[in-house]
Amino acid sequence: MQSHARLVVIGGGIAGCSLLYHLAKLGWRDLVLLERNELTAGSTWHAAGNTPHFETSLNMSRIQKYGTELYQRLEAETGQPTGFHRCGSIRIAQDRDRLDQFRHLEGQSKAIDLAFEVIGPNEIRSLYPLMELDGVIAGAWTPQDGYTDPSSTTQALAKGARDLGAVIHRRTRVTSLRQKPDRHWIVETEDGTIEAEIVVNAAGTWAREVGAMAG
Ligand SMILES: Cc1cc2nc3c(=O)[nH]c(=O)nc-3n(C[C@H](O)[C@H](O)[C@H](O)COP(=O)(O)OP(=O)(O)OC[C@H]3O[C@@H](n4cnc5c(N)ncnc54)[C@H](O)[C@@H]3O)c2cc1C
Repeated sequence: MQSHARLVVIGGGIAGCSLLYHLAKLGWRDLVLLERNELTAGSTWHAAGNTPHFETSLNMSRIQKYGTELYQRLEAETGQPTGFHRCGSIRIAQDRDRLDQFRHLEGQSKAIDLAFEVIGPNEIRSLYPLMELDGVIAGAWTPQDGYTDPSSTTQALAKGARDLGAVIHRRTRVTSLRQKPDRHWIVETEDGTIEAEIVVNAAGTWAREVGAMAG
């Protein structure tokens, strides 16, 4: 293992690999990711991979839109399939409050050029003829919704990062973190020690454990 890095990411789930990929795309070099097991060995392995576009926060909507656009172009960029499929979704309203929420989100989605349409029962039936429509007054049609394979998507992000020079060490558990007076970090692993200017804790469920190493 190299002895120095500008930035070390701890954790090879989708968050850690995505960060590595995006920093590499931004031109950061000297990036290292340390994963104690195999990539996607944590929560990422268990995820259903649903990629909805139905979010009350505008910023979260932007992230969801960016995510599905990214998942659709990553294979062409990296050669690694993500397993993304676009199928669209219909959510149903059975009262005015729910319809008001749909209308609010329709307006919010327009602001970021995200497809979101409030439709009536006839349009719902034409999109999905098997749906039982008793009591349904409207639907929210989000055609960009889909699902991805979380493991393949993470591998595609990792491949993209590696192609740009980032280094990933699997089977390398971080065992301790220590900050030097110059604020650099000494990252000890089961496989050697590495000094880094910046350390990112992307250990998911284990983030508390890794955070405690920093004191
Ligand atoms: C059943 C289920 C269904 C889900 N469905 C969806 C869904 O449909 N859509 C959606 O968007 N999200 C879904 N999620 C949520 C999604 O899976 C998580 O938000 C996401 O995977 C978290 O990724 P992460 O990279 O933060 O964490 P993780 O994938 O847990 O990655 C953390 C990594 O850190 C590593 N690590 C820990 N300690 C150390 C150490 N000391 N040294 C080195 N490495 C270490 C672990 O081995 C692990 O690989 C679902 C989750 C579950 C459990």
